[in-house]
Amino acid sequence: MICDNCKTREAVILQPHTGRKLCKECFIEDIRKRVEMEARKQEIVNSNKILLAVSGGKDSLVLADTLSQFIHPSRLIAFNINEGIKGYNRNEYVKKLEEYLKDLGIELIKSGFKEEVGFSLDEMLEASLKKKLNVSACTFCGGFRRKLINEAGIKVAADYVATGHNLDDEVQTIVINLIRGDLLRLIRFGDKPLMVSSKFVMRVKPLRKIYEWETTMYAHLKGFEFQETECPYISQKPTLRAKVRDLLYKLEEKKPGTLLRILEQFDEISEKIKKEYRLTNELPNCVICGEPTTPGRMICKNCELLIRSGLMPQEYQKYLPIS
Ligand SMILES: [Zn+2]
Ligand SMILES: [Zn+2]
Repeated sequence: MICDNCKTREAVILQPHTGRKLCKECFIEDIRKRVEMEARKQEIVNSNKILLAVSGGKDSLVLADTLSQFIHPSRLIAFNINEGIKGYNRNEYVKKLEEYLKDLGIELIKSGFKEEVGFSLDEMLEASLKKKLNVSACTFCGGFRRKLINEAGIKVAADYVATGHNLDDEVQTIVINLIRGDLLRLIRFGDKPLMVSSKFVMRVKPLRKIYEWETTMYAHLKGFEFQETECPYISQKPTLRAKVRDLLYKLEEKKPGTLLRILEQFDEISEKIKKEYRLTNELPNCVICGEPTTPGRMICKNCELLIRSGLMPQEYQKYLPIS
């Protein structure tokens, strides 16, 4: 079987959403081109500094590898967080990640929940269980990761924070926000992010139009070694996301390209809504830590979780929203 693109090399991959059979080189080039196109659309290509949030998983490696091909590596800086999950955060993966980034010419900054927040994720969860809080590990993890990533972005004076979210992640989140009717979250989600607080570094997702199977294949073809251990808290993952993911896979299987079309349609709609929707005020800031929080709230979700878990001084109890 000959590659549909170069018509010389042997094809090794069938790309269902285009119907093309591609060789290794043409497939890798196709991904790079599509990431570059999205990065240009998001207008990040000429920025001074971009912070890459890297977990060491395949998507973060693909993110660093593709971006460094059209943005000078000196303008990229990688950021890795050790959440403090026993058996999951392994030094050998961070070491591999660091070596790999070094080859690309990208500096890596390392951080951790324990150093920055005062508690590892395991400790937060243990405390919350003692208080019989029914909050999943992913809720703690997601909130504090966002906070640390944003703070790192400010510290290195980054114009943007780039994450490795792929097309599958993006469409799942869109459908979940639709189901929940979360308008603010939904419109903040388009390809050009909406600023809601001067304290947020703009977040961009250059891989948002690349299928998850494509990032896996890219990592595999490039011979990357990455963190493949599943997070031990995986069973606590929100079940709605799992259901939405399964549904979307079925649709994609029946009609390849469905996810891509949903995202493109969504970008168009969100663009139109953004023009109509004026945010008159900035988000309020948490009275404890100063991070932006949802309108009508005095404290942020992260501080609320720490208070409810008994990990903050008693006097802060008064700030808890009534639930
Ligand atoms: Zn080819
Ligand atoms: Zn706070």
